[in-house]
Amino acid sequence: MTKTDAPSMADNLTKLIGNLKPLKAFVNFSPPKIGPLEIEAVTQALTSGWLTTGPRAERFEKVMSEYLGSQGALALSSCTAALHIGLKVMGLGPGDAVITTPLTFVSTTHAAVYNGVRPFLVDVSPDTGNIDPQKIADFLETECVRDSDGFQLHKKTGLKVRALVPVHYAGHPVDLTALWQICGSFNLSMLEDAAHALGSKFNDLSVGHDGHRGFESQDLTSLVAFSFYATKNVSTGEGGLLTSPSPTLLARARKLAAYGITDARRIWARYSPKGTWAYDVDEVGFKANFTDLQAALGLAQMSQLGEFLDLRVRNVQIWNAAFSDIADLVELPTVRKGAVHSWHLYPLRLRTKKLNIGRDEFIKALKALNIGTSVMFIPIHYHSCYKDFLGYGQGDFPIAEDFFSRVVSLPISPATPKNDIEEAAQLAVKLLKQNAKLG
Ligand SMILES: *Cc1c(COP(=O)(O)O)cnc(C)c1O
Repeated sequence: MTKTDAPSMADNLTKLIGNLKPLKAFVNFSPPKIGPLEIEAVTQALTSGWLTTGPRAERFEKVMSEYLGSQGALALSSCTAALHIGLKVMGLGPGDAVITTPLTFVSTTHAAVYNGVRPFLVDVSPDTGNIDPQKIADFLETECVRDSDGFQLHKKTGLKVRALVPVHYAGHPVDLTALWQICGSFNLSMLEDAAHALGSKFNDLSVGHDGHRGFESQDLTSLVAFSFYATKNVSTGEGGLLTSPSPTLLARARKLAAYGITDARRIWARYSPKGTWAYDVDEVGFKANFTDLQAALGLAQMSQLGEFLDLRVRNVQIWNAAFSDIADLVELPTVRKGAVHSWHLYPLRLRTKKLNIGRDEFIKALKALNIGTSVMFIPIHYHSCYKDFLGYGQGDFPIAEDFFSRVVSLPISPATPKNDIEEAAQLAVKLLKQNAKLG
């Protein structure tokens, strides 16, 4: 490379890194932990004579509902599909709106839009990055009015606010007591985006447990959506799950995930000696079912979930211990009382005022040192497709925006060897130390 080709960024990067030596091999941000159990389980499924939704998917649903403490569970092709179908079976459609967080993946808001539903955003709490219950109440009290049926109408748009869609950010549970209280006061249902929350507990109950709802109401429904995407706490490559205390809702979701075929559970049985070819489709559904190959992988992963979660905690402790040296330069993820964190993510926030290095440069320098990271999340209202559509601008959600501007997710996968995490942590600390402002 000639001198004129060399971008100034590269020079700057060299300066930031100083004489730190990169790790020998790249530490991936979030590799899945796949071993002989998974390989054996998938191989058996491959030779079982049935590849798509069947007995293994059914067994997986049973394992999930027992683990989570939910009466029913429906395995689906993705969490995005679970959120999409979830809002539909709650009865939401055009003219309706939901309240969600700007600090999430676009799946959360896309799912509303697929149904013709408008997502309203409400800012997050600075400690957890979760939607702030007080700000939800403020939004409902100041920007909405109650109609004669007891629903909240958004004054400016006339839309009916029907549900909360909170996200358990990074695996720290939202305050379900506070949120269900709001649901009770304002006649709202709740669909939780629990993509990060497999292993999370709130007040001793798993996220996804039927017992979180603090009151009885026929109308207010509760659904929880999980993800088994490649990077999540349990992975089936792609996959999702809905839980609910309502068998009726799950039955309709099951039908909708299989084109609208009325007896979706019978699809695989159709090909058995006792099956019949006849079926009826009574509404236009989707194609979002879960395969037995995915289920085989998921069952093998679930049998090790306890170990996976323990390894995540161990990795978190390695990062925490390393950063305890430079507590003035970084903000560690916190865990509130009553919360069990699933540690899907380890979102570190830089105290950028104390550093000569910004978040983006920090990430570039870590990459040059062979440490993979990610950023969760680019706020919803920053994305081109939502900017004009939702009419929000920079400055509308200051806590989420500040969170995003300083956050980086560090590697804590159970598949990553302890030694790699330790070396990565030491390097990250040295990098920050040598780029700290003096005094
Ligand atoms: C990963 C993720 C999703 C989407 O999950 P898929 O299974 O990939 O559809 C939804 N919401 C959040 C917060 C996520 O992190």
